[in-house]
Amino acid sequence: MSPDARARWVTDNGGIITGQQDARAREIMSRLVAGLTGAPVHVQVLGTRELTAYSFPDGALFVSRGLMEAADNDEVAAAMAHELGHLISDGHLQGPAALHRKNENPDVEARADDVGCRVLQMEGVPPRAMMRMLELVADRTCPGPCCNDLHVRIARLKTSLPAPSL
Ligand SMILES: [Zn+2]
Repeated sequence: MSPDARARWVTDNGGIITGQQDARAREIMSRLVAGLTGAPVHVQVLGTRELTAYSFPDGALFVSRGLMEAADNDEVAAAMAHELGHLISDGHLQGPAALHRKNENPDVEARADDVGCRVLQMEGVPPRAMMRMLELVADRTCPGPCCNDLHVRIARLKTSLPAPSL
């Protein structure tokens, strides 16, 4: 995506917002990337009310105001960790060997969920936050075009993640 196209895309998604949610996003991100090396990652908050997050190969990561307002810190971390999972899977970021463990899952979203869960675990965030974050998005967006995919991902995490400790 060219710089012009990126700028248009940002505008179409509500522009960049600053202030409290931006500071909170940076704070959560700085903890998540503490153990990672490679291209620097930069997070910004888009003004859209949708619950969403995006990453670009240059390490630009975006979370939406809708997500920041609806999610707790662990859930925001999960959305960021999923995006970091894409960057790690694509080789733009490196981390401890555990993050690069060969994953047989050919589905890019499921793989980003799995790598993201390991990023969360590494930084002391319960990986089940990934599932809670997806449930939050599903609550807000279903029924919709991606609805089925979301439910498949939630169901998969439900069986693969350790049960919460009591
Ligand atoms: Zn993804």
